[in-house]
Amino acid sequence: MYEGVIQDLIDELGRLPGVGPKSAQRIAFHLLQADPVDVRRLADVLVEVKARVKFCTTCFNVSEDDQCRICRDPRRDPTVLCVVEEYKDVVAIERTREFKGRYHVLGGAISPIDGIGPDQLRIRELLTRLADGTITEVILATDPNLEGEATATYLTRMLREFGLRITRLASGLPVGGDLEYADEVTLGRAFAGRRSADD
Ligand SMILES: [Zn+2]
Repeated sequence: MYEGVIQDLIDELGRLPGVGPKSAQRIAFHLLQADPVDVRRLADVLVEVKARVKFCTTCFNVSEDDQCRICRDPRRDPTVLCVVEEYKDVVAIERTREFKGRYHVLGGAISPIDGIGPDQLRIRELLTRLADGTITEVILATDPNLEGEATATYLTRMLREFGLRITRLASGLPVGGDLEYADEVTLGRAFAGRRSADD
């Protein structure tokens, strides 16, 4: 244990994902020795990112405006919607350059152990988007793990009544992992080879 504010810093850093107690201590001491100007810049960007970055009111991707860049882009196909868990998945899919439609970010996956059910995800908002019939295909691009599969199965059932084409990414993605960890080529292939979710 350290004194006062140093321990506060270590505690705060230790609450970040993937930062264990040792790393938190290492980062804290790095900051203590760093140039005040560099530390100030880090502090400013932390405050600024919370103040400026919002979620797109349509797809819930991160955005600095009410609508994100992808939703505003008239060249993106409005009839195909790709449903993902997190906005980092949008980044991963965009990198493949395989997809020209729009997105819907659920904000997670169904996980009873973590107390996350359908009501905690942006499923109601998804159903609202489908109501006017513009969207004719929904690609379920949830993570290839237990929670992602459960979410996709749930959505397939929910969406059946809309009479859409519902597809899943082709197999070949590393099972048990996150979509974002798949390399571009594999993810691109999984997109191109997507299959009906009703099979
Ligand atoms: Zn958007």
